[in-house]
Amino acid sequence: MGHVIERAPSARATCRGCGTKLGKGELRFGERAPNPFGEGEVCYWFHLECAAYLRPEPLLEALAAAPEPDPSAPWTELRATAEVGALHRRLPRLMRAERATSGRASCRCCREPIAKGSWRLSLALFEDGRMQPIGFIHVACAEPYFEAGDLLSRIVARTGELTAEDQAELERELARPAAAPKPVVKAAPPEVKLSKTEGEPAPAHRPARKLDAG
Ligand SMILES: [Zn+2]
Ligand SMILES: [Zn+2]
Repeated sequence: MGHVIERAPSARATCRGCGTKLGKGELRFGERAPNPFGEGEVCYWFHLECAAYLRPEPLLEALAAAPEPDPSAPWTELRATAEVGALHRRLPRLMRAERATSGRASCRCCREPIAKGSWRLSLALFEDGRMQPIGFIHVACAEPYFEAGDLLSRIVARTGELTAEDQAELERELARPAAAPKPVVKAAPPEVKLSKTEGEPAPAHRPARKLDAG
């Protein structure tokens, strides 16, 4: 069976995108998928707006099958949001803006640490029926990471409860030049990473501390 858009017959289901309850009688989107833990199919429920941001492709499939299921929902906006998300493969990973609670996380884009107390964007991937957290990026790194512009309204919509001052700060951060995106380097030899002279690996027998002191 295909995906569904319908009115919730009860208030029992929880949105897989934001984790809050779907109200009784509220329009909801149901994404059908193979059961990751066994046989058959499962249906994951979302608020329409959460589906437009986080599951754009399945929502667009449902809309293509049933163009205007209920005139009361803002289909034009929902469709436009989903279309932008479907065009930028990382955009549906955006969960919200928040202040970094510690300085331990590093940015998935530039790999530099994210300072405690500064704004960051939290990211997640939809896997096995839930949004699985995958880390954070600097707000300034959002454009290179998502390869998309015009991000403020999307960040504000997904975060909620932002003051005008918060929004102004996020807008300034978005406009800041970002550090260059860096791929994950796995198992690089430490003497190469610590070398201060480009292209000249440090001697392996010297402790790393001495290089930093010099
Ligand atoms: Zn939701
Ligand atoms: Zn960054």
